[in-house]
Amino acid sequence: MLGKGNKLYSIFRMKCPRCHEGDFYKGHPYKFSTMGRVKEECSECKLKYNIEPSFYHGSYYVTYALGVALFVVVGVLTYLLIPNAGPKTILIAIFASLAILSPWFYALSKIIWINFFVKYDKGILKKRL
Ligand SMILES: [Zn+2]
Repeated sequence: MLGKGNKLYSIFRMKCPRCHEGDFYKGHPYKFSTMGRVKEECSECKLKYNIEPSFYHGSYYVTYALGVALFVVVGVLTYLLIPNAGPKTILIAIFASLAILSPWFYALSKIIWINFFVKYDKGILKKRL
């Protein structure tokens, strides 16, 4: 289901959206020195990751959507799983999970954003040879 050719493969493995081979980020999302830093181009198919200046500003919308989804999921789960959870407990659970997942969401938002604009090309690596 999550094989090459599926956008979710590129997103969750943080691979190039065109060839699904080259790495998209310079480092791990939780490594502070390279957090959210996108490579210049794909090491395999040479796709320029920075399609235009300020391209990744649009990924803020994706970050917002991920944050809202997390807010709802954690809020509902806390309400359902902790019988006496008040608003304070629910907010603490939401903000703690947001603090933990923020670096991952930051990385996810950029790879999701570029996947809106770049399609998988199965034969791109053969064409380049
Ligand atoms: Zn590539």
